[in-house]
Amino acid sequence: MGAFLNKPETKKYNENGEGNGLRYGVASMQGWRVEMEDAHHAQLTLNGTLSDWSYFAVFDGHAGARVSAHCAENLLECILQTDEFRRDEIAEAIRAGFLDLDKKMRELPELSNGEEKSGSTAVCAFVSPKKIYIANCGDSRAVLARNGQPIFATRDHKPELPSEKSRIVQAGGSVMIQRVNGSLAVSRALGDYEYKKVLDRGPCEQLVSPEPEVSTHERSEAEDEFLVLACDGVWDVMSNEALCAYIHSLLQLTDDLVAVTNQVIDTCLYKGSKDNMSIVLVTFPGAPKPSEDAQRADRELDDTLRQRLTALIEQSAGSEEREDTACHFSWVLKQLARENIPGLPPGGGLAAKQSLLDKIFREFYPEHADSSDTFENQPELTDPFANN
Ligand code: MN
Repeated sequence: MGAFLNKPETKKYNENGEGNGLRYGVASMQGWRVEMEDAHHAQLTLNGTLSDWSYFAVFDGHAGARVSAHCAENLLECILQTDEFRRDEIAEAIRAGFLDLDKKMRELPELSNGEEKSGSTAVCAFVSPKKIYIANCGDSRAVLARNGQPIFATRDHKPELPSEKSRIVQAGGSVMIQRVNGSLAVSRALGDYEYKKVLDRGPCEQLVSPEPEVSTHERSEAEDEFLVLACDGVWDVMSNEALCAYIHSLLQLTDDLVAVTNQVIDTCLYKGSKDNMSIVLVTFPGAPKPSEDAQRADRELDDTLRQRLTALIEQSAGSEEREDTACHFSWVLKQLARENIPGLPPGGGLAAKQSLLDKIFREFYPEHADSSDTFENQPELTDPFANN
């Protein structure tokens, strides 16, 4: 298992853009992990005759960042160069492109000599004027939302899935502690050549397969709201329903997609994600727009939280067993979590307001750094949406 820092690295990488009737925002953050192994690729217009096509992808690397970085750079080109793509057989082209990339990448010197053992999940989407093609290999996930609800989600490739397990066993491996040979937690990935060495079996019949599952969706101009691609650092603490409801509510507060994606990542950190996190959010013309009513309700919620937190801090200040400010903050948060505060963001809950709560607490105790210091002491900031 990857090692952890004493304090999460919360600096974020951001990107955003607008074109082809779409808008997108990206946020990625190292978080608690010692290394950042995620990578992504967002491109609003493809070259040549495909100028009205867009491409988005997230890659979650493991055992190093070499493969995820290489995939972010090369997967798109590998797909575009297939004969299938030229014949307009897009789903087939995506599949062929994944396999082609995996085959070519194996020849890179540090990967072919076994020095570099890394692998990566890959989830990607092509958005054309009429269709959305979504492909997944591994346990990152894409979710398409209409009316704030997930209408489609990719399937996570976990070793214990019956179809995955049977392939693993037939290739001479086993599934233990829900891992391939007791070690790797995903059953499909690019790279991971240590798990692709069974000589008499094809590339998609190995312990770990590079084959994506591809689905095609007709776009609905009226109903499509947004598409989310994210790695498991996000999905570990947010169900599909919770994340769609949360993003739907955030889009009613702002149209700044960097702010929205940053907020999602911060909320996931406060909900306890210990992994690298990357999210690509693509909004369609039918996405919710900022509304004054929603913005007013959010300000009122902030006022309520300020009043309640202030009252709790004042009530409990000076109590002996809470002399330490970190313990005091933790105690106050626990009390607040018990109160049924109306209007908390769906899917976000109190964790969505953690930075405000930090700020208010610091007004009382300026020396208190921030909640990442007291992270270990924090209560579960739960919400009505259960985790996966
Ligand atoms: Mn991960």
